[in-house]
Amino acid sequence: AIPLVVAISTAISAQRGLLIRNRTAFEEARKITAMVFDKTGTLTEGEFGVTRVQIVAPTLDETGLLRIVAALEQQSQHPIAQGIVREAKKRQLDLPGITNFQSITGKGISATVDGQTVLVVSPGYLKEKGISQPADAKSNGAETVVFVLIDDALAGYVALADKIRADSKEAVQRLQQAGIDVYMATGDNQQVADAVAKELGLNGVYAEVLPDQKVAIVKDLQQQGKFVAMTGDGVNDAPALAQANVGIAVGSGTDVAAETADIILVNSKPTDITNLVEFGRATYRKMI
Ligand code: ADP
Ligand code: MG
Repeated sequence: AIPLVVAISTAISAQRGLLIRNRTAFEEARKITAMVFDKTGTLTEGEFGVTRVQIVAPTLDETGLLRIVAALEQQSQHPIAQGIVREAKKRQLDLPGITNFQSITGKGISATVDGQTVLVVSPGYLKEKGISQPADAKSNGAETVVFVLIDDALAGYVALADKIRADSKEAVQRLQQAGIDVYMATGDNQQVADAVAKELGLNGVYAEVLPDQKVAIVKDLQQQGKFVAMTGDGVNDAPALAQANVGIAVGSGTDVAAETADIILVNSKPTDITNLVEFGRATYRKMI
C-alpha cells in the first residue's frame, strides 16, 4: 500500500505542476541546501533565435554556411539546433544531404557534407583544438555562439540568443530565502553564463562544463556536506541528475533527462521547485 503521506503529497504535487517519479523525492526536497541549475532550456526558455551568421573563410557566403549548418542540425535535438533549423526554414533554404552524423556530447555535432568533414561546436571545443575565436564572435555577452569547422579550418559561426524564463529570478530568490545556495552549470561560454548569473543573482556559476564535470560539481557540493538538487533538461544533464540527492527534469526537455529524474517539472516552471521545497517543509512541520 502507498503510505498516506505519499498519496497526499503525490496528489497535491500533481496540481502544482510536479510529477513525482520517486516517492522519497517529495520527502527529500525539504532537505535541499544547494541547487544546481542547468542553463539552456532550464533557467532559459531554450528557444534560440539566430542573431548573426558570420563567415570567416571567404570560400562560402552566409547562406552557404547556414545551409550546411542547418543540414547537420536537422539531426540534433539541441535547442541550438532547433533555432538554426527554424532560421533555415524562414529563409527557405534547401539543405544538402549529410552522412556520418555524430553528436559530440556537450561540445557539438559533426557530419560529412560533400566529402568534407563539418563540425558545429562550442567555444570550449575551439579552445581545446587551439583555434582562436574571431574577435567579433566574443563581443556580445548575451549571445551563444557556435563555430563551424570545415576540414578542421574555421569557416564561420552562428550567434543565437535565448531568453531567461519569466519566473527564473523569482525561483532563485525564493530558494535563497529558504537558505539554499543556487548555482548554474552550463556547457555554454563564460560570457553568456556570467550575464545570466548576474541577472539572476546566483551564488556561483560554472561555464563551459562537460557532462562529467556537471557530475563532479554535484559531487563536490555533496562532499562539502550539502544536500544537492540538480535541475536540467538535456541528455548532458542526466548523469548529474542521477548523482544529485534530488534530480529534477524540466518537462519540455529530453526523455533521457525525464527518465533519470526523481521529479519532473510538468510546466517547465522553475518556481514549481520553489513551491515544492516550501511546501515540503510546511507539510512535514504539520505531520511530524
Ligand atoms: P547546456 O549545458 O547549456 O544545456 P550543452 O551541454 O547541451 O549546454 O551544450 C554545450 C555547448 O555545446 C553548447 O553551448 C554549444 O556550444 C555546443 N553544442 C551542443 N550541441 C550542439 C548542437 N547541436 N549544435 C551546435 N552546438 C552544440
Ligand atoms: Mg540544457
